[in-house]
Amino acid sequence: MAESIGQKTAAADADWKSTACILCECNCGLEVELGGAAGRNIVRVRGDDAHPASQGYACEKAHRIDFYQNGPHRLTKPLRRRADGTFEEIDWDTAIREVAERFRQVRDTHGGESIFYYGGGGQGNHLPGAYGGVTRKLLGSIHRSSALAQEKTGEFWVAAKMLGGYSRGDFEHCEVGLFLGKNPWFSHGIPRARVTLRAISRDPERCLIVIDPRRTETAELADIHLQVRPGTDAWLLAAMLGVLVQEDLVKHEWLAEHADGLADVLPHLANIPVAKYCAITGVSEELVRKAVRRIAAAKSMATFEDLGVQMNRHSTLVSYLHKLLVLLTGSFGKKGANYIPATLVPLAAGGEGGGGAPKLSPVTQSRIIGGLTPCNVIPDEILTDHPKRYRAMLVESGNPAHSLADSVRMREALAALDLVVVIDVAFTETAKLAHYVLPVASQYEKAEATFFNFEFPHNYFHLRRALLKPEDGLFSEAELHARIADALGELPADAVATLRAAWQEGRKPFRDAFFALAGGNPKILAIAPALLFRAIGDLLPEGAAEGAGLWAVCQIAAQKNPASLARAGFTGDPFDAADALFDAILSSKSAVVFAVDDWEESFKRIGTKSRRVQLAIPELFDELDGLATEAPPQADADFPFVLSAGERRSFTANTIIRNPEWRKKDVEGSLRMHPADAQKVGVGAGGRVRLTTRRGSAVVPVELSDRMQPGHVSLPNGLGLAFPTPEGPRVAGIAPNELTRSEDRDWVAGTPWHKSVPARIEACA
Ligand code: SF4
Repeated sequence: MAESIGQKTAAADADWKSTACILCECNCGLEVELGGAAGRNIVRVRGDDAHPASQGYACEKAHRIDFYQNGPHRLTKPLRRRADGTFEEIDWDTAIREVAERFRQVRDTHGGESIFYYGGGGQGNHLPGAYGGVTRKLLGSIHRSSALAQEKTGEFWVAAKMLGGYSRGDFEHCEVGLFLGKNPWFSHGIPRARVTLRAISRDPERCLIVIDPRRTETAELADIHLQVRPGTDAWLLAAMLGVLVQEDLVKHEWLAEHADGLADVLPHLANIPVAKYCAITGVSEELVRKAVRRIAAAKSMATFEDLGVQMNRHSTLVSYLHKLLVLLTGSFGKKGANYIPATLVPLAAGGEGGGGAPKLSPVTQSRIIGGLTPCNVIPDEILTDHPKRYRAMLVESGNPAHSLADSVRMREALAALDLVVVIDVAFTETAKLAHYVLPVASQYEKAEATFFNFEFPHNYFHLRRALLKPEDGLFSEAELHARIADALGELPADAVATLRAAWQEGRKPFRDAFFALAGGNPKILAIAPALLFRAIGDLLPEGAAEGAGLWAVCQIAAQKNPASLARAGFTGDPFDAADALFDAILSSKSAVVFAVDDWEESFKRIGTKSRRVQLAIPELFDELDGLATEAPPQADADFPFVLSAGERRSFTANTIIRNPEWRKKDVEGSLRMHPADAQKVGVGAGGRVRLTTRRGSAVVPVELSDRMQPGHVSLPNGLGLAFPTPEGPRVAGIAPNELTRSEDRDWVAGTPWHKSVPARIEACA
C-alpha cells in the first residue's frame, strides 16, 4: 500500500495491536507496537490491512501519534481554580461533588437552559458525546455546540431542505470527481485519499476537477483546476449553473422522476451573466464551460465541499449552488455519484433545531442547525445582560478559546460565566479559564470510536479497544459522567443491579429488563448510556467497557435500517439483529460492516416531506440574484491581502497534539505567500513579517510559494498551542483565531469567513 507506514514482519505480528488514527475524520485503521521504558509508548505504526475502509492505508501523520499519547501536557489530577487565578489539585470525590453541586445551583437559579455544552468529542472520540448527554439531560441543558457549527452547518441546512439527509460522494467509482475548497491530499476526508486521487487522475476516462484558489497538491493532479479568486466561489458556482441551464445540459428526465421545484429555480439561473461572473472569479469562461460540459456528459459525478468554501463568504449559498449542480445533473443515487449513507448515530444530520434543541438561540436569535448553536455567536449569547444568557459551560474534548473565531472575545466570554468546567486530557487554552478541570483517559486508554461513518454501499463502524490502562488516577468520560449522575442522585442502584443480573442471564433477558425499566420510568432513556456503562461495562471484553452505551445505539439502528443491517448479515427481528451487531462490534479487531446498501437506497432515504428532491430554497434566491449587483471582495488600501486563516498542511491536523515537535517541518507554521508579494513587501524566504487584520496582529515567518495566488496568503491551522517545558510554556506559531472576528460570518448558518480575512503585511526590521 503506497501510503502505508511501517513494514510488516510476520515474526512480530503478535506484538501489533489494532487501533485507529484519531487525527482526521477518516479514522484509518492502524496497527501499533507499544514500547519505551514503561511499555506505554506507541513506537511503531502501520496501516491495518484488515480495516474494511482504510485497507492498510495511513498517511504520514499517524506515524507520530505518540506525541498525543505521551508527554508533559497530560493532566493527572482534577484542578480547581483559586480566587487568585492559580489552580490547586483536588481529589476526585471533591471534584465530582463540587462540580455537580455548582451546576445544580446554576440550574436551580437560572434554569438548565442556561448551561451550555461545548464539544463532545473530536474526530476520533465520539463516545464522550453520548455519555456527556447524560449529564446534559440531568441538568436540563438544551443548548450546545461543537466545531461542526463553524464548518458544516450551512451544508447540513441545505441538505436537510433539499434531500432531508446528508449526502457524500462515491469517489472510488466516479467518472468525474469534484472537490470544492478541499485538498484531500492533506485534509483527507475520503478513505485512502491519495490512492483514490491518483486513480482518478491517471485514468484518461475519468476527470478530476478542483475548485480552489491555491494550486494545491490535489489541484496539481486535476484535469481541470478552476483557480478561483479567494471569496468568489458563489460567482463561480452561479456561472457554472448558468452554463448548465443556458446550454440546456440539465437532466430533465431524471428531475421529472425524482425532483420538485425546477420551475422555481430556473428563472434564477437562466439569465446569469456567465462571462461577467467568470471575470469576477478570475477563471476563464472557456475553462468554466469546459468543466460544466464534462460534468454534464459524465455517467457519474461525486462531489465534496469542505472548509475552503464552508468557512468563506456566501458559504450557505455556495452549499446550495453545489447541491444544485449535483441534482440538476442527476448525480445522485447511483454508483459513482452522491448517496445518503446508513448511520449508526446521525452526527451529520441537521435541519433547524434538532436533538431536542430549540430553533433559535436565546439571545441573538440565531438559527440552531442540527442542534448546534453557531460558534460565532457564543460570545454574544454570554456577554450581555439578557436574562436568557448562557451562565455556565461544560466543555468536553473541545477548546473554544483557541478553536473558535475571535479568541480575544471568546476568552472574555468564558471569563464572564458563573461556572466553566473543562473535561480534557491536557491543560488547554480553555482549561486555563475554567473553574474546574477534570482530566480523563486518553483516546488510547479506553474504548473509543467515531460516528463519522459515511461509506457506501458498505458502511463500517470501529470500536477500538483500549491499548493501555489509563494513567494512575484517571478514567474515561463514561466513568466520569456516571459519577456525576451519581452525585446528582440520578443513577438508580437498583436499575444497575437489575440490568447487571439480566446481562449475565443472556441477551433476551437483558433487553426485556431494559425495556421494562424504560417503560416504567422515562428517565431511564435519558441516563441509558451511563446506566449501561455501570451495569455491563466491566462485563464486556477487556478494553471495551466504554462500548457499553453502544447497546442502545445498536437497538435504534436496527429499528431504523433493518434492510441495510440484514444485507450486512444482521438478520432476524430487529432486536436480535441489534444484539448480533453489538456482539460483532465488541468482538471485531478492526471495523465491522454494519450496513450494506444498493444504490437505490439513497432515494428511500430522502427525508423531505414529499420524499422527493426539493430543488428550491426560496430563502436563498435574493442572495443568489444579488450576486449580479454585489461588489465582489476587493483588496482595500488598508488591508490589501486576503488571509486564509487555518490551512491543512502535511503536519497539521486537529489540535489534539500540543507538542510542536510532532511537526517534522515548519514547526513555527509559516505564512505562505507568492514570491511576487514577498518582493513587494520586501521579505525573503524565512524572513519575518507583521501580519495585521481588523482583529489583531502577529509576527510570523514567511514561506515563499507559487501555489498561492498573488494577494492571497495562508496560515496553517492548529498552531499557537501552549506546551509545557521545564523553562515554562512554549507556544509555537500563531493561533489563527487571534486574527479573526466573530462578526465575519454567514447570515444563514453563522459559519465564519476564516478563508477570506482582509489582511495587511509589513516586513519586520
Ligand atoms: S490523518 Fe487521517 S488519513 Fe492520515 S492516517 Fe490519520 S486518519 Fe488516516
